[in-house]
Amino acid sequence: MGTVTKDAFEMITEDIQPYVDGIRQQDRRILAKTITLVESSRPEHQERSRRIIDQLLPATGNAIRLGVTGFPGAGKSTFIESLGVHLVNTGHRVAVLAVDPSSRRSGGSILADKTRMEQLSVMPQAFIRPSPSSGTLGGVAGKTRETMLVCEAAGFDVIIVETIGVGQSETAVSGMVDFFLVLMIAGAGDELQGIKKGVLELADAVAINKADGDNIDRAESARREFETAFHFLSPVSPTWTPPVLTCSALEMTGIEDIWKTVCRHRSKLTETGEIQAKRRAQSIDWLWSLIEEGLRDRFHRHPAVSGMLPRVIREVEAGETTPTAAAVRLLFSLDNHSKV
Ligand code: GDP
Repeated sequence: MGTVTKDAFEMITEDIQPYVDGIRQQDRRILAKTITLVESSRPEHQERSRRIIDQLLPATGNAIRLGVTGFPGAGKSTFIESLGVHLVNTGHRVAVLAVDPSSRRSGGSILADKTRMEQLSVMPQAFIRPSPSSGTLGGVAGKTRETMLVCEAAGFDVIIVETIGVGQSETAVSGMVDFFLVLMIAGAGDELQGIKKGVLELADAVAINKADGDNIDRAESARREFETAFHFLSPVSPTWTPPVLTCSALEMTGIEDIWKTVCRHRSKLTETGEIQAKRRAQSIDWLWSLIEEGLRDRFHRHPAVSGMLPRVIREVEAGETTPTAAAVRLLFSLDNHSKV
């Protein structure tokens, strides 16, 4: 975050209308340009994208938001391609986004490979955008969230957000979607080992992928194992028990069933008001995470803090003061400074 001068503010206000109009008219070039603004770290770009999104807000919220996670190699890209093609062929407009906080380190992993989603990427009714490539998980996820709103305003009625099954990125993605799908593959009887119980708690459904060829039986027994695992978890929603399905992203079997599951979930939870409540709670969580991020940022930038911080850290390291006393001192220095 940063500040923008008054003149710059006036310029920004003047020139956002072409962006807003272009997005509403589903202009792909303007859509891509707007997302570049959303992802930029320059304060004037951030201010401009905030204003554009503000204007677009009434046109957002109508899409089905689907999150997909799974280990590298589980078949996420292949699955999203198959599902995306199925959706486009049945009249939908699909945007595929990604949250991959590791892409900076690894030089790009998910969605970065151009050979992926070959069919979907050339369809005019589809739009694929790789993960923002820099920033903290919170930053990357926040940008993807805003990109999702921009895509909704551009008329995409299904937004698929892909994330890899590592770290906290699943939590971040499940916090921005209506339906969270966990993609698995059958292992040698140890499917449940190594996967975090926490991920299952976030799942609205699990799909065992690669149920094809001589792998069908193993996929079916993995499916039963996961089903049993769900019995030991307390359900998140009183109206929804997460189903465990099988599919083959490669052979495009089971894909339609998964989509029907997503639609069934949506209609059931819309009826009970749970989807609306979930989205409201997600917005409030997002608000708080932005506030917390902003406060942390301000704290670090504050002259009183930056002047004191290295010394205070040394004192805590040396055991000369307690972390509690040090925190109180730093926070008080902020208060005292703002009063003068
Ligand atoms: P990701 O890393 O999770 O995105 O996985 P990919 O979509 O890149 O798939 C990893 C590998 O598994 C590739 O070689 C795919 O061709 C293969 N794969 C993906 N889905 C299936 C499937 O349904 N059946 C089979 N047999 N292979 C698959």
